[in-house]
Amino acid sequence: MKTIVLASGNKHKVAEIGAMLEGYNVLSLKDIGFVGDIDETGETCEENSKIKTEAILEFCKANGLNYPVISDDSGLFVNALGGEPGVHSARYAADHNDEANRQKVLFGLKNKDDRSAYYKCVICFGDGNRFEFFAGETHGQITTKKIGKEDFCYDCIFYSNDLEKTFGEATEEEKDSVSHRGRAVEKLKEFLDSQNKN
Ligand code: IMP
Repeated sequence: MKTIVLASGNKHKVAEIGAMLEGYNVLSLKDIGFVGDIDETGETCEENSKIKTEAILEFCKANGLNYPVISDDSGLFVNALGGEPGVHSARYAADHNDEANRQKVLFGLKNKDDRSAYYKCVICFGDGNRFEFFAGETHGQITTKKIGKEDFCYDCIFYSNDLEKTFGEATEEEKDSVSHRGRAVEKLKEFLDSQNKN
């Protein structure tokens, strides 16, 4: 089975992406013994995902591990807020404070007619020879109040145009079938499968 390193310390993400990449042995940062933080200093999802992939490729090289690396970066982009919170989604009002971050989005949209928004995810693949990028988006509207489960940041204020309900009301399977991450992983999987045919 082909092994690939996912440059994320987020257990939820490793499980989610690992399940979508059926047929691949997906290693987490913990599995390869990486400890520490990687500064996400980029201004786009593409830049941030590449920063993470490059850092982990370096680590692998220094430790004699010869695996391809993938990393993802994602965010919520609200059109009437000029694309904010975007790459700053995790720390828009306060670092990983979901409630404060949601309230800042709701406050910013007070008196705005256009409540359209989208989640975007970019996955950067690197194998030491080249980088490849795979992007996925999912579109919807910001609600005026929270609806559904509050366990994943903006999901309870994001009404999905595809599902016709908020992501907070959707099951995991429903969300995966239309999500930005699901769509980016689908493209990555097609690429990996085509590479491994040769
Ligand atoms: P990262 O890709 O882990 O850097 O995620 C950045 C931030 O974007 C997260 O901390 C959330 O605030 C937001 N975000 C990205 N994807 C989702 C999602 O599927 N649901 C809710 N929030 C998300």
